[in-house]
Amino acid sequence: MINILLKKFQTPFNTAPFSQINNSDFLPAIKQGIEDAKAEIDAITNNPEAPTFQNTIEALDFSGEQLDRVSSIFFNLNSAETNDEIQKIAQEVSPLLSEFSNDITLNEALFKRVKTVYDAKDSLDLTTEQATLLDKKYKSFSRNGANLAEDKKQQLREIDKELSKLKLKFGENVLAETNKYELHITNEDDLAGLPEGAIEAAAQLAENKGKDGWLITLDYPSYIPFMTYVDNRELRKTLAIAFGAKSFQNDELDNQEIVLNIVKLRHQRANLLGYKTHADFVLEERMAKNPKTVQTFLNDILEKAKPAAQKEFKNLEQFAKDLDGIDQLQKWDSAYYSEKLKQKLFNLDDEKLKPYFKLENVINGAFTVAEKLFGLQFEEINTIDKYHDDVLTYKVTNINGDYISILYADFFPRPGKRNGAWMTSYKPQYVKDGENSRPHISIVCNFTKPTKSKPSLLTFNEVTTFFHEFGHALHGMLANTTYPSLSGTSVFWDFVELPSQVMENWCYEKEALELFATHYETGEVIPMELVEKIKESATFHEGMQTLRQLSFGLLDMSWHGGDSPENITSVKDFETQAFENTKLYPDVPENCMSTSFSHIFQGGYSSGYYSYKWAEVLDADAFEYFKEEGIFNPEVAKKFKDHVLSQGGTEDPMILYKRFRGKEPQPEALLRRAGLIKN
Ligand SMILES: [Zn+2]
Repeated sequence: MINILLKKFQTPFNTAPFSQINNSDFLPAIKQGIEDAKAEIDAITNNPEAPTFQNTIEALDFSGEQLDRVSSIFFNLNSAETNDEIQKIAQEVSPLLSEFSNDITLNEALFKRVKTVYDAKDSLDLTTEQATLLDKKYKSFSRNGANLAEDKKQQLREIDKELSKLKLKFGENVLAETNKYELHITNEDDLAGLPEGAIEAAAQLAENKGKDGWLITLDYPSYIPFMTYVDNRELRKTLAIAFGAKSFQNDELDNQEIVLNIVKLRHQRANLLGYKTHADFVLEERMAKNPKTVQTFLNDILEKAKPAAQKEFKNLEQFAKDLDGIDQLQKWDSAYYSEKLKQKLFNLDDEKLKPYFKLENVINGAFTVAEKLFGLQFEEINTIDKYHDDVLTYKVTNINGDYISILYADFFPRPGKRNGAWMTSYKPQYVKDGENSRPHISIVCNFTKPTKSKPSLLTFNEVTTFFHEFGHALHGMLANTTYPSLSGTSVFWDFVELPSQVMENWCYEKEALELFATHYETGEVIPMELVEKIKESATFHEGMQTLRQLSFGLLDMSWHGGDSPENITSVKDFETQAFENTKLYPDVPENCMSTSFSHIFQGGYSSGYYSYKWAEVLDADAFEYFKEEGIFNPEVAKKFKDHVLSQGGTEDPMILYKRFRGKEPQPEALLRRAGLIKN
């Protein structure tokens, strides 16, 4: 049988030939792709000519094209339409790919050529994009120790090995703690307040374990509704303390030692590579650039948000006192009374809004917004292959009718699709041999399905989620760069959420909602008082929420921005110190955040937690520009397209942003939008 993945695709728009791919094609195609890519890299290192930008840096960036295509098809399917077979292949493929990428970073002959070009960069007359690519390629080696002497290199490898073990163990401990705990409830009165669906789920959990009554666990879908709705305060306290005590119980699943070791090793690693702290190392490749900027940024917002947060806290405490005679609000009261207060103030539930957000209308709405802003046209086409019947496919063109992109949209949940919503691509954009090769972008969601009697009606949260992913998709579709690794969403981490988050803003604007938020039966446009309520409720308790986000960001920076982590002896004391300025609720001595803070100790968010707020500042500041000039102002939109959306990672994001906005982003825009300051 022919392996279709080993050939150049003979398909319309060069799209992925889903219907002709067999699962058994993937592994051989990826192995072959790795071999081909290796041969391409050998050709670079064996080139008898002196290293140049073209024969080394550019050649490296264009190497492995077929491998990239096949792996993106494979991993996209593993997320959106997987099965046991694909998952098994993924386990075989992943180590092969990471070994291959390690081989590149450790390839000394290749680094020698890259360094030769890098050292001569000032005399090379490179374009801005080329200079960025050179810098990026060089750093992909140097940040992994390519410049170190042999013994130091060895030391770095040891640290890396140890770190990956510790991170893995950290995650395993948190998972084991989460799975170990259950709150067994046998008296139905103890569930008073909990919505029907959550009660059913708790009964189901109990049944699955052969128990009577109801089980509550520390998994979010079980934990969150319980903390939000259950009237029994003692039980909320029990569950909250169990949640906060994860891997902080001085037993075999304890993470305190691991936290201290991770922090020390990261610091050593950074020092070895010539950076003052781990945060300095990480932030070199971020828009924020250095720890000082991040600290100032977080503290600046803290100063402005704190009075609002304290006021909200006082109100909430008073509300709880009036309602239930609570004297001191505790952590386990926060979600519960917030929800009660929110209901009292807004009485806004999803069912009221959903009829105005029929999926088809929302899709048309997003497309119309993109047409008004960027002149894009979306035409549904049925001539290209899809991996599932549910997938919609569009050909996207610009105002002149030029082909811009293929867009796949896959909206409904099904077995084999992971949770959540995301944007991805099947093919990047780049320019090769004078031809602008256009991207294939995909949006995958898990939205409410249509039923026999009702179309798919989205919750407001689903509407903003769609606009969010659509924003990422625009970043991908409008890409216009030369090199694939700098194209579209390949930007610094704290910049990538700007296009997505900024698009969410249109969902709150009358002018935009009028275009698509019409009742699916009557055609009536959504009433403005509902829109006002949506807006107000969106910033409900914004002060406290902000303080919470900042507290995590500041904790992260304390762990990773200090220059003598070897002196830290107590995780809890260190953390208490870091939380001092953001504290609202009394401390719970049995609890510790750091020992289960997986984002920064297991995942990749170390020295990066601030980026959530950072991106919010960017999107609020960017949208304020639209608000000033009109949310469909074509000049502002053109600037956003020309300087941000089309530029990918070709230049420093702050430079790109300033070119669009005319000045640096100001946190005040976010604080204004959040209602934390008045003008
Ligand atoms: Zn996003």
